[in-house]
Amino acid sequence: MNGIEGKVALVTGAASGIGRATALRFADEGAKVVVSDVMVDDGEQVVHEINESGGEAVFVKADVSDPDEVANLVASAVEQFGGLDFAHNNAGIEGVGSSIPEMSVEDFERVIDINLKGVFLGMKYEIPRLLERGGGAIVNTASVAGMTGGPNLSHYYAAKHGVIGLTRSAALEVANENVRVNAVCPGVIDTPMIERFTKDDDEAAEGLLAAEPMGRMGKPEEIAAAVVYLCSDDASFVTGHPMVIDGGYVVP
Ligand code: NAD
Repeated sequence: MNGIEGKVALVTGAASGIGRATALRFADEGAKVVVSDVMVDDGEQVVHEINESGGEAVFVKADVSDPDEVANLVASAVEQFGGLDFAHNNAGIEGVGSSIPEMSVEDFERVIDINLKGVFLGMKYEIPRLLERGGGAIVNTASVAGMTGGPNLSHYYAAKHGVIGLTRSAALEVANENVRVNAVCPGVIDTPMIERFTKDDDEAAEGLLAAEPMGRMGKPEEIAAAVVYLCSDDASFVTGHPMVIDGGYVVP
């Protein structure tokens, strides 16, 4: 893809699933990659894989819900590689499922803190660094859950709707400063998150597959390709867009 080689990309939630696939794809396209997660061993393994195959990557541990850790993450990226061009704000959790009356305030706040505030904090510290470079691109991970409702996971659906709102707003704040901000909205993707969600629950697993018209889950690499495309020069007139990659699961 055009305009990725030699650039610096930061990916959160990069130790696993979609973030891991994006970090590897950025490296394949010639970017230097800052791999970030709370899972240190798995994150360092991704860095090892990139460096072993001739790429350049470093690991920085950060909890995306903690303002100081996110500020430090972005500062470390700049320190390690001299600047920042792209960011994929992707870290997220599925949360504990229950109806709204049954949901604890702590469970609600935890999902909002990581899945929504984490994206805000990422952009808060990334945007000034992209502006310093004269431009760049951000992709936030929303979900088809940002476009529909769903029972017993209201915190998750609300957070993902919020990510789309943040993305559209950020895009307009920097549209004439050569920074583009987009989101990806994955359908059901075969990652450890879905494994946890469907483990010991055949009905949940069948329900998720039944909702996928192609009769299969998506692969993390199919989301990674969209993220790197949205950062590339090939997407130079695309901003504020929540890109659905879902095998036909929802019609936007
Ligand atoms: P995953 O569990 O494989 O990966 C999520 C990663 O985020 C993990 O490595 C985890 O350690 C990290 N993480 C969790 N909390 C964190 C925190 N506070 N700070 C930093 N890192 C943290 O799941 P995934 O499916 O790859 O999910 C990635 C993103 O995609 C999430 O935002 C998720 O909501 C979204 N998503 C997933 C699907 C799907 O079907 N898998 C669909 C739509 C959206």
